[in-house]
Amino acid sequence: MPSLLPNIVLVGRPNVGKSTLFNRLIRSNRAITHDRPGVTRDRMEGVVRRPGKPEYGIIDTGGITLDDRLAVQEGPDGIRGFEEEILRQVETAMSEAAAIAFVVDGQDGLLPTDKFLANHLRRLDIPVLCVVNKVDGAEQADQRLAEFHVLGFPLIAVSAEHGHNIGELTDRLGKLIPKEMLGAKLEPPALRLALLGKPNVGKSSLINALSGQDRMIVSDVAGTTRDSVDVRFTLDGEDYVFVDTAGIRRKTKISDTVEKYSVNSSIKSAGKADVTLLTIDATEGVSAQDKRLLDMLDTRKIPFMIVVNKVDLIPSASLKQIVADTRDLLVFCRHVPILTVSAATGRGLDKILPLARRIKEECAVRIPTSQLNRAMKTVLETHQPPMVKGARPKFFYLTQAESEPPTFVFFVSDADRVMATYARYIEAGLRKLFRIAHAPMRVKFRSSHKKDGK
Ligand code: GDP
Repeated sequence: MPSLLPNIVLVGRPNVGKSTLFNRLIRSNRAITHDRPGVTRDRMEGVVRRPGKPEYGIIDTGGITLDDRLAVQEGPDGIRGFEEEILRQVETAMSEAAAIAFVVDGQDGLLPTDKFLANHLRRLDIPVLCVVNKVDGAEQADQRLAEFHVLGFPLIAVSAEHGHNIGELTDRLGKLIPKEMLGAKLEPPALRLALLGKPNVGKSSLINALSGQDRMIVSDVAGTTRDSVDVRFTLDGEDYVFVDTAGIRRKTKISDTVEKYSVNSSIKSAGKADVTLLTIDATEGVSAQDKRLLDMLDTRKIPFMIVVNKVDLIPSASLKQIVADTRDLLVFCRHVPILTVSAATGRGLDKILPLARRIKEECAVRIPTSQLNRAMKTVLETHQPPMVKGARPKFFYLTQAESEPPTFVFFVSDADRVMATYARYIEAGLRKLFRIAHAPMRVKFRSSHKKDGK
């Protein structure tokens, strides 16, 4: 869609050949050029595609086309008649353009209208390339370009009608677009992480170790509370943000033995993140507060992992025990991964960010209906649903109602007859078939009489 791409706007007085140029640039004939004077045409949008280079949008603002004869008849006074139309073009250019292709007519030469328009364009803070059209051969180019130098814009000679120099033009226009705009569409947004856990588990140490030297501490917006301080950093070309780090960095006077951190504000931070890291101290294990938080993260279907920190301080046998104990706490959310790390020695840290990325990707998964129903068949055939109160529930249809987290809805004859254990078996089956290992997932059952679930 042109609206998502940086746009080049074609600007120029009538009859310089903007439409023909537009068609050349998008290599089709979607725009219609009118021969009749006074004909309005619609605004035209297209995409310039170049192999191996970023695309950009092109907009021809159109407007009223008057033929040469009419313009000449009106003479220099006619300029005033164009003013409104020209200003409208400039306004459009200002609001939508990453850059401007200012089209002039090399055969007519430089007209007062061109100068008038150039004055307006110069005042915009947008790059401009002056495209001198109707220059049909390279041999005429220098001579034809000469008088346009006074406008002060870089120049290129082209012939829209004969296709002369169009490849060069698309490149020069592409180079005109500010780099950050070209990249804007291709760059995925930063992965947002929330780091939770009681004081002194090593959250600050983890942020420092993961973000390294290049981090940027950003206060969200002027006027917001100090609690929403984000830490941004880039690693291996990927962007990350630790959200709400103010509470982490502000050291409380609470002694280490008082295990007190707010579950509510933790959940709030988790809500701002794509993936949450719940940090646990290997020397202490899972606290009661951690358990409460864990339950809430699970019921709210928040994507999270558990990071057991300070593993350098305990023997490996104790570590095994802690991981086993934590696993036991996760019986109803077996998908939650547990990492064992040391912010001090760096052990295991390299796994955290790739795992977070994977969880985020799994959350966003969309499964086509055909695959869903094949999966349903496979799962049902491997283990058929058990009888409940003398009847076996019939499964009609499966759809994915949402992503983030992926939510699957089964339409069945009688939802009450689907046992919890069978529901868990189904979830495990879907996870395996669709490779959703660590993201949260919802599986729902709806009673329905008809096959289509209506
Ligand atoms: P926060 O309150 O969760 O941000 O915890 P800090 O990052 O301030 O860490 C608390 C204390 O634990 C500090 O003295 C850290 O140096 C120490 N610490 C953090 N991570 C580790 C680790 O992996 N191993 C060891 N031995 N000490 C750590």
